[in-house]
Amino acid sequence: MGLLDKHLPQIRAYSGIRDHGADPFNVRFDAVLSPTEAQLNGRRVVLLGTNNYLGLTFDEDCVEASVEAVRRWGTGTTGSRIANGSFNGHLAMEQALARFYGRKNGMVFTTGYQANLGVLSALVGRGDHLILDADSHASIYDGARLGHAEVIRFRHNDPEDLYKRLRRLEGVPGDRLIVVEGIYSMMGDAAPLKEIVDVKRQTSAYLLVDEAHSMGVLGERGRGLAEAEGVEDDVDFVVGTFSKSLGAIGGFCVSDVDDFDILRVVSRPYMFTASLPPAVVASTLKALEQAEADRSLRPRLQANAERLFDGLNALGFTTGPKPSPIVAVVMPDMPTALTMWNALLQGGVYLNLALPPATPNNRPLLRTSVSAAHTPQQIDLVLDVFEWVGRELGVLPVESQRASG
Ligand code: PMP
Repeated sequence: MGLLDKHLPQIRAYSGIRDHGADPFNVRFDAVLSPTEAQLNGRRVVLLGTNNYLGLTFDEDCVEASVEAVRRWGTGTTGSRIANGSFNGHLAMEQALARFYGRKNGMVFTTGYQANLGVLSALVGRGDHLILDADSHASIYDGARLGHAEVIRFRHNDPEDLYKRLRRLEGVPGDRLIVVEGIYSMMGDAAPLKEIVDVKRQTSAYLLVDEAHSMGVLGERGRGLAEAEGVEDDVDFVVGTFSKSLGAIGGFCVSDVDDFDILRVVSRPYMFTASLPPAVVASTLKALEQAEADRSLRPRLQANAERLFDGLNALGFTTGPKPSPIVAVVMPDMPTALTMWNALLQGGVYLNLALPPATPNNRPLLRTSVSAAHTPQQIDLVLDVFEWVGRELGVLPVESQRASG
């Protein structure tokens, strides 16, 4: 008996996955050539699963800012901000985020995962009620565990179910915090935020929106779903990440709530981990500027998302309901998903394989994410590979037609 025998079912399942070909959870790039291309086993692949929505990872200004910061401030902070102090960049980033969102307060975390852990566990605790969409990201569920509030799940994107569950709490003491995501990371669907805001108003709950996948993507200025839906005033807390549209790593929360800064000394995932390195903060600050100022990025991203979504649907694949920078292709079963994923990789397309139980309705998914940096030609190439592989493996009906344009 070994220590890890408790994981035997997972060990067997993982081994079965690897038997299909490449290891989808341990892809090793020889080189990353641009925001949209890499080299893998000596071959070029199109990157179609990187969350690099605005394609800023190789932006010259971001890279230069990062290089300058590392020379000036060194490679890392080597500790937490409450022990080792803040660098100028941390404060500049917090001010920039607060200004970008039009909020009084901003706070940065070392990852987006930690931002959810740190904020959720500090905002609600024992005796409070955390009302989560059933399809919430793992960081939201883990933040809930850390905080000990009662967790109540409502049906995904179902404001009526949310209302019903909050009504049941009438007269029960404790704060209520509703948590939803701007764009859901697996299927790419957006929350029905206006309806959720209506429920929030009727039930005196607080509302937190995780804009991880919608920051830089939705809204005229890129602030996310709340901006796009015109309901920012009703959102009490916005959480987000630097690891997607901003092309780096880190997380944040902004809010107008009074006494916000107390979070800095009660939030364990903020206090007990090293702060962001200067190079990361510097590139992120530049990326935020670009995300706000370059108004050509979002239309390009949207056009690419529509091209991929329309093309896949015309071919006969089953996707999420609407075009979004995340386009998930639903697979009928695990063996097909694994074979398709491997064949697409062989064909030069790298995307994410998402397997149950991490997927909605326990369906395996080929999860793609497009970038403003993809060219229409790259999207068309991806569609060609999907078509060829889909027919070869019998996933596509023979008579399906590719949309033109
Ligand atoms: N929230 C959501 C909705 C996410 O999808 C993710 C990551 N995929 C995170 C938070 C965590 O962000 P990070 O990877 O930057 O830690």
